[in-house]
Amino acid sequence: MDETAVVVVGAGPTGLTLACALRTQGVDVRVLDRAAGPAATSRANILHARGVEVLDRLGALRGLTEEARTAATITSYIGSEPIGRLRFGDVGIGTARPALLAPQTMVEARLRDRLAELGVRPAWSTEVTGVHQDAEGATVTTADGGTVRARWVVGCDGAHSAVRRLAGIGFPGAPVADRFLIGDVHMSGMPDREGSHGWQHPDGMVAAMPMPRPGRDDGAEGGPDDLWRLMVYLAGEPDGEPDDAEVLRRLRAAFAHRTGRTDAAVYGAEWVSHFRVHRRLADTYRAGRVLLAGDAAHIHSPLGGQGMLTGVCDAENLAWKLALVVRSAAAPPLLDTYEAERRPLAEDVLRTTTAVTRVQVSGHPLARLLRDRVLARVFALPAVQRRATAVASQLRVTYRRGPLAGRTPPGRAPRPGDRVPDLPVRHADGTASRLHAEVGGRWALVARRAPGVDAVADRLGGPVAALASPRPREGEVWLVRPDAHLAWRGAAGSPGLERWLGAALRHGGVR
Ligand SMILES: Cc1cc2nc3c(=O)[nH]c(=O)nc-3n(C[C@H](O)[C@H](O)[C@H](O)COP(=O)(O)OP(=O)(O)OC[C@H]3O[C@@H](n4cnc5c(N)ncnc54)[C@H](O)[C@@H]3O)c2cc1C
Repeated sequence: MDETAVVVVGAGPTGLTLACALRTQGVDVRVLDRAAGPAATSRANILHARGVEVLDRLGALRGLTEEARTAATITSYIGSEPIGRLRFGDVGIGTARPALLAPQTMVEARLRDRLAELGVRPAWSTEVTGVHQDAEGATVTTADGGTVRARWVVGCDGAHSAVRRLAGIGFPGAPVADRFLIGDVHMSGMPDREGSHGWQHPDGMVAAMPMPRPGRDDGAEGGPDDLWRLMVYLAGEPDGEPDDAEVLRRLRAAFAHRTGRTDAAVYGAEWVSHFRVHRRLADTYRAGRVLLAGDAAHIHSPLGGQGMLTGVCDAENLAWKLALVVRSAAAPPLLDTYEAERRPLAEDVLRTTTAVTRVQVSGHPLARLLRDRVLARVFALPAVQRRATAVASQLRVTYRRGPLAGRTPPGRAPRPGDRVPDLPVRHADGTASRLHAEVGGRWALVARRAPGVDAVADRLGGPVAALASPRPREGEVWLVRPDAHLAWRGAAGSPGLERWLGAALRHGGVR
């Protein structure tokens, strides 16, 4: 029987990120996917700043920033009249990267390339049909009659997760909105491609987002080759399965009717689809040796582009904890901190995306007045734009209230649980680097002068970067997790660090 430390079920963005992060931390991993090969359809088309950081830390960014488009603005219109512009800006916490308009196919390709470099290729056409746990591990069976024995199994197998079902984990939730039509279409005559555009109309909203055209000269924009993601809301649509030609026809008709633009035209489509919006959250993220991440754990409205981002960040959070447990540097209770830290964030994402969707699709006159006349102006305020960027980018996500955050007096940022910005740092030999380039595959200790790391590396059973930065106070040390959140800060040589490590690694909590 094939044996490994971790079986990752699903080679979507969540599973690929998890596998890359586990491999960078030296964990043996198999990735199984029922599809015959990589998906060719774009699906999610935005990767917010925090997701860009994760790919960077894993060495998977490789030219994506240049190839994608930057999501700079969203302009709202009623008919041809612009009523407001939301500008994604600096959230005021340093090193904020712009969000990227990049189709999911592009993101997955980067992750697959990186994973191949790390020695793993997904096993395609390998559908998981059974997961049987015992005290030492789990046996995964596949539709082709194969079996893999693993210590841990992670279901990254999407909204209809078989792993979730096989582990007996419920997925309660409710529908949020009727049918959306979606398509990557060739268009001419569209407003500028520096941002996205949204039209409000009594029949429902229309949104258009510029899509990258790999290898094309941007100077030639404006012609029928321009690629746009078009999304149209259809209220009260009866059930039924419109075929691709019908979806394209309806996209075209709704665009012309609701935007009033006679100067823009929709040509053929690279891809079309349609879906209803549901919000669902798994009852638990862990059942024994089985864990869930990404869409297998939570689904919600695509408005706001949080789907791929939340899955990728789940994976990064889980990977270092699994790595510690696999190499016996930590006890399994550490794995429960994954849900404790990530579930509140998923609840926030479900709440926010549901609220945004309901406001966007409501046909109620009062809701329309609020949306079209009040909110459009409020979103023009710089403070609101900063707040919107911070929420959408997930850069301000903190685990301060989680079980791994100790009690630090208020007012000293970063506090344990906070994301540490991508600080300029130096190695002991004076070589310059960035904090986020040093973590990912390992932990870091940061102080005014590069500190000794041997004791902490022994405790963690893996490498720890010794880095110098003027940010910690004189005599202070910061322990930074592989996902760039602050684990602990305190006086160099104090027993506090050893206490934190003991409590986190043995008991999965320091409170
Ligand atoms: C039409 C559409 C449009 C979308 N638009 C947006 C958007 O605009 N913005 C946004 O943020 N999000 C969007 N999403 C959601 C986004 O695509 C998901 O949030 C994201 O793909 C989640 O990644 P994941 O890796 O968790 O799951 P998935 O990408 O669903 O990957 C799951 C993988 O598991 C595999 N698998 C499933 N079952 C098994 C099994 N039994 N055995 C082995 N393998 C299995 C599948 O083949 C697949 O490769 C869209 C989704 C769809 C379908």
